[in-house]
Amino acid sequence: MLKINRQEINLLYAELKKVNLVQFMEKELGTAFSKAGEKYTCLCPMPNHKDSQPSFNTYKSSDEDGGECWVYHCFGCGSGGTIIDFCMNYWSLEHPYDAIVFLVEKLNIKDTYEIIVNAIKEAKIEVNLRKRIDGEHFMASKRCYGLLKRYDNPEVKDWVYNCYRQMNEALGNNDIKLLNKISDAIVKKESELHGVGRNGG
Ligand SMILES: [Zn+2]
Repeated sequence: MLKINRQEINLLYAELKKVNLVQFMEKELGTAFSKAGEKYTCLCPMPNHKDSQPSFNTYKSSDEDGGECWVYHCFGCGSGGTIIDFCMNYWSLEHPYDAIVFLVEKLNIKDTYEIIVNAIKEAKIEVNLRKRIDGEHFMASKRCYGLLKRYDNPEVKDWVYNCYRQMNEALGNNDIKLLNKISDAIVKKESELHGVGRNGG
């Protein structure tokens, strides 16, 4: 896996923050601005804000390190920040890294930042896999616990403990396929046992 280099990300982030938000929004959204002093105002474009008076303004500022930085703020909906925040809010992106990848592609600077963008994408895939594994593991554990509680007999106990062992193995290897298989087996076991219960009663 490619390692994400913080320093490189910060450099790229600093570059993106310099992007002129007025020009960006004019080009991408067709926003019409009016200028008041150093500030540019417009109707807020955020999807969840039906703005009737221009509440959105943007201007060139400087960041913590004294670098040039475009920021925005909407007095109506409270949305504000840098171009990264803007993209996350406007296009409902989950993570700042998503906004970085999105912007690099939009601004056509992919070639310059190819390595870092690929590293971000890979990290993202890994994070998503981890999430799926954790979710699956949580559900499977819950069902196993349910079986233990419901059927107090050695056969079920053995079966469930074996499941736990396999789940640990799957977790250790990030093996989502094995986890899925275990989940399916648990569902099958549940219906078998429930079926037995119904016939018996
Ligand atoms: Zn707004």
